[in-house]
Amino acid sequence: MKKCRRKFGYKKSDEKDIVVYLTDDTQVDDEYFEILPAGTHLRVSLPGEVTTPNDYIQQLSTFLHRCLQQEPNLHQRVYECLKEPPTSDGAAAALLTLLARAASDTVSLTSRDKDPEWFKGLDTKFNTKEGVMRNSCESRMRGYFQHTRRELLADIPHHPPPPHITNAITFFRHHLHQTRHNSSYFDRSASDSERLCDDKGLFSCEGPYDQHTCPSLHFINPYTSREARIIFSTWNLDHVIEKSRTVLPILKASLSSKRGQNVNLQYFHQLLFLHKDTTTTTTTSSGNLKLVHVACHDKKPHQLKIEPKYIYLIEDSTDNIDGSHTSHTRKRLQHYNTRSKKHCLRTTTTTTTGTRRCEKSQVK
Ligand SMILES: [Zn+2]
Ligand SMILES: [Zn+2]
Repeated sequence: MKKCRRKFGYKKSDEKDIVVYLTDDTQVDDEYFEILPAGTHLRVSLPGEVTTPNDYIQQLSTFLHRCLQQEPNLHQRVYECLKEPPTSDGAAAALLTLLARAASDTVSLTSRDKDPEWFKGLDTKFNTKEGVMRNSCESRMRGYFQHTRRELLADIPHHPPPPHITNAITFFRHHLHQTRHNSSYFDRSASDSERLCDDKGLFSCEGPYDQHTCPSLHFINPYTSREARIIFSTWNLDHVIEKSRTVLPILKASLSSKRGQNVNLQYFHQLLFLHKDTTTTTTTSSGNLKLVHVACHDKKPHQLKIEPKYIYLIEDSTDNIDGSHTSHTRKRLQHYNTRSKKHCLRTTTTTTTGTRRCEKSQVK
């Protein structure tokens, strides 16, 4: 109490009146004080004093405390938050200093010989942090692919599997191969448009599937320490429209339907493997994956459905490069349009009757 009185500049005569509280306003008496764990946050005041718990600072200090344990390289990000009034006060400055002191400088190191601790427990084939992180993203993508493949081939009565199923699997494998399994998502040395982190390796949680931002300021930089790298593996690439409950069953049903050969595989590829670009407002071509902290990963059914109008393509690969159709496709197109105009997805420049109808009924 003496220490506390001096620290906060209370008068000596007030010493016996000083009241100590926990951050949740629980009053702490001497007995309780003895059993408090070290590092417990306390507030002190005199009985008459108005206590104005600054919630913002309380929450922030809890957050910073966690950061210090898990992610010491956040001070830049936090600093930006703290610049906003009304938190630019003494407490904030003190927290910042603390945070800066705790920040390690291993984050910028890249190779195994410079930061061997980071690589502890990893296969010796990895020599850079970027390589490890690329591989980590690639494994996730391979996992999604294997899951897709397994689902599409499950309970198929006859062998070999129907060609549309095989085609779809080949399509996904090929596209994943072309983009190196989207491994640049986790690579801080990749270009700005390809990676999900900043150039230091800092990732921000993108928030629950049905929210635009993370309500809890979740950040992590797996490039910092071995611990951060391991914690990052609990972060999820969450399928906004769910892979197991929604995407795969619909994909399988569509491929097995009469129009199986016209399934819009590009669309399903986006749903299964591509990051949701939240900077654009289009819902058709922006992917479906959000990087989220466990707390922002909603495991209950997501109430989001696939747009039926995107499931099928009207054209197939017999289209010529200049956009015209072979007579076979045109015939099919005309036939198709008379049946269901609203499934038409693409604009073409040909002048066949079928196509003009198609343009008129373009989906909004
Ligand atoms: Zn979050
Ligand atoms: Zn999920």
